[in-house]
Amino acid sequence: MTSSGTERILRYLDQHPNRVVEITQKLVQADTVFMGPGTPARQEKQCQEWIASFLTELGCTVDQWEPDPADFQDHPMYQQRLRWEERPITVGVLPGTGGGKSLILNGHIDTVTAEPLDRWTRSPWGAEVEGDRLYGRGAADMKGGIAAFLAVAEAVVRSGIKLRGDLMLQTVTDEETTGMGTVAAIQRGYRADACLVPEPSNFEIWVAYRGILYANIRVDGRPAHAEIPQPHWRAGGGVNAIDLMRKVMDGLDALSMEWQGRPDKQHALLATPRIFPTGISGGEFIASLPARCELQIDLTYLPANGDALGYGSAIRQEVEDHLARWAAADPWLRENPPRITWIQDYPAAETSPDHEFVQALSVAGREEGIKTRIGGLNSWADVASYLLAGVPSLCFGTGSIERAHTIDEWVSITELRRLSRVLARLVGGWCGAQE
Ligand SMILES: [Zn+2]
Repeated sequence: MTSSGTERILRYLDQHPNRVVEITQKLVQADTVFMGPGTPARQEKQCQEWIASFLTELGCTVDQWEPDPADFQDHPMYQQRLRWEERPITVGVLPGTGGGKSLILNGHIDTVTAEPLDRWTRSPWGAEVEGDRLYGRGAADMKGGIAAFLAVAEAVVRSGIKLRGDLMLQTVTDEETTGMGTVAAIQRGYRADACLVPEPSNFEIWVAYRGILYANIRVDGRPAHAEIPQPHWRAGGGVNAIDLMRKVMDGLDALSMEWQGRPDKQHALLATPRIFPTGISGGEFIASLPARCELQIDLTYLPANGDALGYGSAIRQEVEDHLARWAAADPWLRENPPRITWIQDYPAAETSPDHEFVQALSVAGREEGIKTRIGGLNSWADVASYLLAGVPSLCFGTGSIERAHTIDEWVSITELRRLSRVLARLVGGWCGAQE
């Protein structure tokens, strides 16, 4: 049963169908590409200030701040040189009247690069509308999703509805490269009874996320003239570091293969983890046996593989032990073992599909004619941070994740309106809507 309060919010949305489009356009028009730690801010601050004034006008208590990197040096996801200057985080709170459940709606304003720009058929920041499509970098991932929840907040206030529980609207920087924006919002104390992040999930309810580990593996050989026959290395001959890395890669493949059949590596909603080489460099001169080779790897893990804090310490140990055993079969590598440097660790996390918040969203979706399927994301997303903080959290949004990060990225306007209606029902039902 939809309450009359929720009906009024829905009616407001229907009477103002272009608001979600206008808000998405405003957000897309800000260039919020983030190229990674150490690179300058673009228009994140203007974008966040626009959101802050939007929320202030609605009567929200607005908190906007630039986190201090010193507070996050030891965090497993933190990257050196990450700074928040000109890249603030914004949280608007619409205080409830009491007696309802609180809800966080969270989205990231940062986008990945729009390069190669010359292959776009329209400006990535033009926010052009053509038919049902709104084009632009971040339109799908995930400024459209943010616009949907901002439009809902506006509809709540402008239709004169009071929510019982607090509604928190968070827009963060740093999801795409480090995930530290939401970590900073949690550290500032923002918690609720549930959290929804409208990433482009194609109206699937994502309740599970894989953890990710990035590492660098280095092997050292011994440089020598490549064309001159070499004595055995024990007699001072050269050793080719690239050949050594081939053995290391075989070892990583063997572990990946073993995982495919292992019960602890299976999950109903997530793919079985693997180890992928994603970068390699080595060799100093074309006529020299390389002295050094480095490999970058990306590997994933399931929530059940996480340690007590949800992170991949056990997986790190497993990979190190396996590689040490594997390398021991090679006399040189036994004495000169590969060295692994772990770069980042994004924790795996999940919430039960039976949780009342998941059920509430399923009902809201059904009422809008969406057969909401339960799914998982084989990558990591900001919600994992909220899950680890003990807040039941999920992703649910319009458009498919395959449309994210692409040339001519777009979002469907019909779907944006539909997403707003689902979120309005969720907010009204979860927080409690009073006329
Ligand atoms: Zn995203």
